[in-house]
Amino acid sequence: MEEAARLKGLDVRRSEFGVFTRIPSGDIEKASGSGAIKGNSGTLGLGVWSEGPLSSQQRSPLLEVKGNVELKRPLAKAASRLPLSGRRLKRGPDQMEEALEPEKKRTRGLGTRVTTTHPRAAALSSAPQTQGQTAVPKAPRKPAPRCSTAVAPVLKTQKPGPVVPVQKPGTTAAPPMVGGKKPKRPAWDLKGQLCDLNAELKCYRERKQVLDQENQQLRDQLQEAQQQALALGAERKTLEEELTRVRAQAEQGQRELGNLSARVLELEERLGTQEGLVQELQKEQLRLQEERRGLAARLGEQERRLQTSEASLSDSQEEVASLRQEAAAREAVLAEREDRLHGLEMERRRLHNQLQELKGNIRVFCRVRPVLPGESTPSPGFLQFPSGPCGPSDPPTHLSLSWSDERRGTLSGAPAGPTRHEFSFDRVFPPGSGQDEVFEEISMLVQSALDGYPVCIFAYGQTGSGKTFTMEGGPGGDPQMEGLIPRALRHLFSVAQELSGQGWTYSFVASYVEIYNETVRDLLATGTRKGQGGECEIRRAGPGSEELTVTNARYVPVSCEREVEALLHLARQNRAVARTAQNERSSRSHSVFQLQISGEHASRGLQCCAAPLSLVDLAGSERLDPGLALGPGERERLRETQAINSSLSTLGLVIMALSNKESHVPYRNSKLTYLLQNSLGGSAKMLMFVNISPLEENVSESLNSLRFASKVNQCVIGTAQANKK
Ligand code: ADP
Ligand code: MG
Repeated sequence: MEEAARLKGLDVRRSEFGVFTRIPSGDIEKASGSGAIKGNSGTLGLGVWSEGPLSSQQRSPLLEVKGNVELKRPLAKAASRLPLSGRRLKRGPDQMEEALEPEKKRTRGLGTRVTTTHPRAAALSSAPQTQGQTAVPKAPRKPAPRCSTAVAPVLKTQKPGPVVPVQKPGTTAAPPMVGGKKPKRPAWDLKGQLCDLNAELKCYRERKQVLDQENQQLRDQLQEAQQQALALGAERKTLEEELTRVRAQAEQGQRELGNLSARVLELEERLGTQEGLVQELQKEQLRLQEERRGLAARLGEQERRLQTSEASLSDSQEEVASLRQEAAAREAVLAEREDRLHGLEMERRRLHNQLQELKGNIRVFCRVRPVLPGESTPSPGFLQFPSGPCGPSDPPTHLSLSWSDERRGTLSGAPAGPTRHEFSFDRVFPPGSGQDEVFEEISMLVQSALDGYPVCIFAYGQTGSGKTFTMEGGPGGDPQMEGLIPRALRHLFSVAQELSGQGWTYSFVASYVEIYNETVRDLLATGTRKGQGGECEIRRAGPGSEELTVTNARYVPVSCEREVEALLHLARQNRAVARTAQNERSSRSHSVFQLQISGEHASRGLQCCAAPLSLVDLAGSERLDPGLALGPGERERLRETQAINSSLSTLGLVIMALSNKESHVPYRNSKLTYLLQNSLGGSAKMLMFVNISPLEENVSESLNSLRFASKVNQCVIGTAQANKK
């Protein structure tokens, strides 16, 4: 509708309470003539006002009020909320039409042109046009007030229109209407004109009366309208406040809506994230379910295996129980066998010792070294090794030495026949005897050392007869050439290992010294003491102790062959240093290797205390040629030789004294016998190697050695006793 009005050039105004239309005055004129605004006039709240020719001054006050009332009249909707007092305002358009009916009747036939916005006016404007033309003769046109032509509201701005002439009695009646026109009185009919005027006056008076009443009604209405306007103003204020509040609420709501929208967005994002998480969790759940199924299967498998294992475990437990019983029985048997074994071991030791005693506590072995390259081969028959009583298979125990002494002559002057000397020993080793063969004979003595008996093995002979070779071995580290010392220690370690299975625990401590000119020197010295003849003294280990120690000498615990090899190597180095300093001193000194052996059987409380195994490489036993001129060097050599001879003589005397069971044994006469006193005598077992040179030129020294050895061999030392506690 607004669009239609705009297209028609109408100015449409809209307010809260209604719509008002500004219509050009020209249009109003046209509209009033054609009734085009009838549609608008029928609605309460719609009003038409004109501008232009119809100014406010030209309007009557009544029209002014009416216009104001209509302008301020609320829409039907508002009216329904705030009912107005007064009968007229409650009427609808139809009711108003009905209310106007008397007016129509009154004005019908007047033929007045009415232009109004009121529905009643519209009705009035149409009625006279039809009826006035047909029923009421048209009154003579008079200049009507301008307002009656400008604005149509008849009831409000009704102005005196053409008055129907009232025919006075006695006057000529008004000529009848001819052709719809009022007949004109002739000019002479003044009375008739007067009647008409009177009738018109009366009509005006009546009309005035009606208008006064209506005016009064309108005033009332105005008052009501003002009150209503006040009420409406209050209501408007309330509504404005309400509107403000509603707007505030709307703004608040808008803000909340914004917040909620943001919240919704945030929640949607979170929802998206959560959905992603849910998807991941669902995947994880699927994977876990799969894994769970796998684990359940494995669990089932494990349970089956467990059941099988439990079954086999119970079987095994039964088996273990029976095995334990069996083991206990075996342990008892084992203990019994151990006891028997121990008894047998002790019996073995006793028998072994008896055997050694039967062989003699002092044994003498003779060893002849081979002829070395570059040496003159002795004449055939010079040394002979006759077989034993059992034939060639019997190890030789005899040695015969035959030679012809050119110095001896017969009375006839013919050369004397060969001189033959025969010697008998516990064993004789011809030049071809190997080191292992020699050691085999003495291994029984090494066993005695482990059994707790002191053992002493000497190598006696002139220089170059093979003493050092026999005790330490040949040069070059050839295992076949190993001497008695490394072989004896290897044997000891191996037997100790075997005996550990029977509960025996052994420990070994080695020392190696040399005695030169009655001074003792440590061959295991290291560092600054290496190669120097530091003073060493032989002392008893403690007051009342039988054990002897060498002060300033190293006592080295050994447990394997390599350690022993290292010690022998060190001793050789020390001797080499001394040799350069003191001219072949090694052959002029006694080398004493001692091994302290301690054994313990903890479970049976047995101990073998520090039985020494002594391996002695004696100094050369050769004597000085008395015919030689004595220079300064020879005098020194003589002193050395005398010292050596003295110590060797003392050794012989000690052995003799022991053999003869003399009360005094001259141990103290030499450092050698003093150091070896615990390895000689009563409880000790002694073995002497007499080393012989195969050369004829050494026959004299060989004979001396053989004679000395024979004397020793004739000695019988009393029954040996093991050092047992
Ligand atoms: P000693 O120590 O009595 O002075 P050695 O042991 O030094 O004599 O021996 C002298 C030489 O004879 C050395 O070269 C040694 O290798 C050699 N010899 C000694 N005995 C034997 C033997 N049984 N077999 C081979 N060579 C030997
Ligand atoms: Mg030697």
